[in-house]
Amino acid sequence: CGIVGYIGEVDAKEILLKGLEKLEYRGYDSAGIAVRNAEGVTIFKEKGRIADLREAVDEEITANIGIGHTRWATHGVPNRLNAHPHQSTSGRFTLVHNGVIENYHLLQQTYLKGIQMKSDTDTEVIVQLVELFVKEGLTTTEAFRKTLSLLHGSYAIALLDAEMADTIFVAKNKSPLLVGVGEGFNVVASDAMAMLQVTDQFVELHDKEVVIVHKESVEITELDGTVVERAPYTAELDM
Ligand code: GLU
Repeated sequence: CGIVGYIGEVDAKEILLKGLEKLEYRGYDSAGIAVRNAEGVTIFKEKGRIADLREAVDEEITANIGIGHTRWATHGVPNRLNAHPHQSTSGRFTLVHNGVIENYHLLQQTYLKGIQMKSDTDTEVIVQLVELFVKEGLTTTEAFRKTLSLLHGSYAIALLDAEMADTIFVAKNKSPLLVGVGEGFNVVASDAMAMLQVTDQFVELHDKEVVIVHKESVEITELDGTVVERAPYTAELDM
């Protein structure tokens, strides 16, 4: 159970795969990445190790935004269907999640009764709730905030909106997650080790902050919208 994300100017695939390899010690029953380019979002995911995922990735597809996951299953057997990333019904929203959503069943019964779930995971409710609230008229940021306010449990989350070329939505609660800052790019990862390949500048995140990552900026707010200013620190670790 580890997540990564990249937004910048070069191809995301190799950065995500290398990052996942560094997180494999955290969990390794399945893995996946999602990348977004002008054609839309493409998901590659497989049961097994990052090496199996690598073989499934189509080198021809290039993209400069992406998210990735290495799974240690808590809800739903380890198979391709339950591997992350997970997508909302329309395919607009794509999400990776590390942690456990304790009230997923209640959320599903309360808000998502009419929705055909695609997986057996606790995770899928998150991405389906974002889509539901956007369909009800909220912006993606508002829908993400509202969804986070309903979740009980632990999470490190990265979310892509297929209609937004320049944003990764990020949040954490009781699961580790950091933003790595670069020149013309930003990354997110469960562990700094995963992104030392591209930067040694990291911004720590606190529980229940809402983080909007663009390639040139990182906006952190509290769940109620209060703006948070936090400077990066230099990670002193060996790769
Ligand atoms: N609870 C989620 C699942 O079972 C995430 C597990 C993880 O952190 O890898 O898919």
